[in-house]
Amino acid sequence: MKGRILISACLMGQPVRYDGRANDSKVAAFQQQILHWQQQQRLVIACPETLGGLPTPRPAAEIRDGRIISRDGDDFSRQFHLGAEKTLRLAQQHDVVVALLADRSPSCGANGIYDGSFSATLTTGMGVTAALLSQHGIRCFNPPQFDALQHWLQQHDTP
Ligand code: SF4
Repeated sequence: MKGRILISACLMGQPVRYDGRANDSKVAAFQQQILHWQQQQRLVIACPETLGGLPTPRPAAEIRDGRIISRDGDDFSRQFHLGAEKTLRLAQQHDVVVALLADRSPSCGANGIYDGSFSATLTTGMGVTAALLSQHGIRCFNPPQFDALQHWLQQHDTP
């Protein structure tokens, strides 16, 4: 059986980033493989922040002391956590086993996030959606880990 893959909507070219742009350039080198998964109907596409009710564009936000705070100082924790829960529910409804998420995002970052200082400084940790998915057994990868994702699928897919 080939497990379903949750993918960040911005990686699929949807202009849902905080600044109204997409993130598909991050996976440009892997387009053929992603298209193949899409043709196999393995992809579940989601943007946690818009699922949480935030508009696009929206202020940039980062995680600071466990809260998700915008550059202007507004607290978006409620919307981010709601988006994470809705994304988890969607993933579970579609039997998702693994996720390919946009890196560094306070929602989708799976292997490092910005440190809350809005100075482009990275720190260890995960975005709130990546963390919630991981807690529920859905393995999360970011585009720089694409090879590791493919290896993981080779280990877990059955013919
Ligand atoms: Fe992309 Fe995730 Fe941010 Fe939505 S929440 S724009 S899917 S990185």
